[in-house]
Amino acid sequence: MANHLFDLIRSKIIDPTALFMVLSNGNRMSYGDLVAETARYAHAITSLGIRPGDRVAVQMEKSPAVIFIYLACVRAGAVFLPLNTGYTLNEVDYFISDSGASLIVCGPEAHDGLSKIAEARGVKLETHGQEASGSLAEKAAKAASDFADIARGPDDLAAILYTSGTTGRSKGAMLSHDNLASNALALVDTWRFTASDILIHALPVFHTHGLFVATNVTLMAGSSLIFLNKFDPKTVLDCMDRATVLMGVPTFYTRLLDDPNLTREVTTSMRLFISGSAPLLAETHREWSKRTGHAILERYGMTETNMNTSNPYEGDRVPGTVGMPLPGVEARVVHPETGAPVPQGEIGMIEVKGPNVFKGYWNMPEKTAAEFRADGFFITGDLGQFDERGYLSIVGRGKDLIISGGLNIYPKEIEEEIDALPGVLESAVIGLPHADFGEGVVAVIVREKGASVDEKDIMAGLDGRLARFKWPKRVIFVDELPRNTMGKVQKNVLRDRYQSIRFD
Ligand code: AMP
Repeated sequence: MANHLFDLIRSKIIDPTALFMVLSNGNRMSYGDLVAETARYAHAITSLGIRPGDRVAVQMEKSPAVIFIYLACVRAGAVFLPLNTGYTLNEVDYFISDSGASLIVCGPEAHDGLSKIAEARGVKLETHGQEASGSLAEKAAKAASDFADIARGPDDLAAILYTSGTTGRSKGAMLSHDNLASNALALVDTWRFTASDILIHALPVFHTHGLFVATNVTLMAGSSLIFLNKFDPKTVLDCMDRATVLMGVPTFYTRLLDDPNLTREVTTSMRLFISGSAPLLAETHREWSKRTGHAILERYGMTETNMNTSNPYEGDRVPGTVGMPLPGVEARVVHPETGAPVPQGEIGMIEVKGPNVFKGYWNMPEKTAAEFRADGFFITGDLGQFDERGYLSIVGRGKDLIISGGLNIYPKEIEEEIDALPGVLESAVIGLPHADFGEGVVAVIVREKGASVDEKDIMAGLDGRLARFKWPKRVIFVDELPRNTMGKVQKNVLRDRYQSIRFD
């Protein structure tokens, strides 16, 4: 048997001297170098006793080595388990014990803290710096540059990614070789990636977006990466004359728009701007088109499913929508309780099925079973609606739905109205316990710089725009909304923060 994912990656390497990656320091790496480097890391991890199916947890700052270790795991048949560098020791301990990892790779600075966990759990611990330093880098440097890839089939696991866990413990999503391979191929096709593309990679690599979407699409198309260790608007702008594609979260685009150097001229060599992982405001989409002449292409996916839908490459990229299902992916909108499809135009639960959908949650068969329908569709937890042209819009997470006085209220509808009011930069609408209504609508608002808009102005602005029952019962002004590293507004943090608010 062959190695399903790595064989496919190899098969796309037409010319081993072709460029795979350029680093910020100007260092360049060819596809041939990539194959050799990942072989060295595969030797390094197998020399530590890692066997097919073993989990390799990696908590490192972003560097090319994270990509090498991911691909080394694929080649060695191991299961790559990336961890956000923001996780505390307590959280990492949970991931290590839950996953039963056999090896942890961490930055040298984290070694002492993690050594207690490693010892207590009987797990091997290796270090790797952002440059090629640390015990694992040393092992790799000494290893051979060819490696006999371990046989792995389409359904064998390539990775476990823990979901961000906004409610309860986070769950380990099991992703197979074919989940990753099939999705990357569908995206190459949909987004017209070729060997001439150069992608600006400024996303984190512990998350599906930067790790799989950006990297696997590049590998499957034989394209190149400009690999930046973090997002910085100025650096990204400086790269644009040498690049063709940017993949980002919405905050990349709003921060780039804040920079006066973003102009049509700066983006002339770019062919595509892609956004995902959080909702892109229609206003950002329009602003971007106005400033650069490019329509941002928004897509929708999640850790468990890879990417599900995308706006079209050719054809209208409709602001506020996430487009249509990718080739091979089925998506439907159903009644959340009954599972019966709702008529087109109505809001319901988004469910998806296809080779992109994960194998279940690690060690959680009941949770897995509860999130799949009998006909194999995965219940995403996102609410959405299809328009008459087949474009899907996301209305929000199901758990963010507010039920007030027995009526369903979709926060996004209220947020859009509030965001359009003068002096408002952005808003988040949440439901909080209310003695009469069950939940009361609360709007948390960030003013534009220098604006003095107040609660009275907000209510006056909503008058005639929204039915009364949707009006916020409380308005709170804040300096900024809490966001996670992928730019998602953390409504759970807001709900916790304001849970004791009284409505009178
Ligand atoms: P994650 O597993 O961290 O990638 O988060 C997945 C979730 O992000 C999805 O279930 C959606 O709620 C949200 N998401 C991803 N892409 C989009 C998008 N384009 N618009 C709105 N929400 C999105």
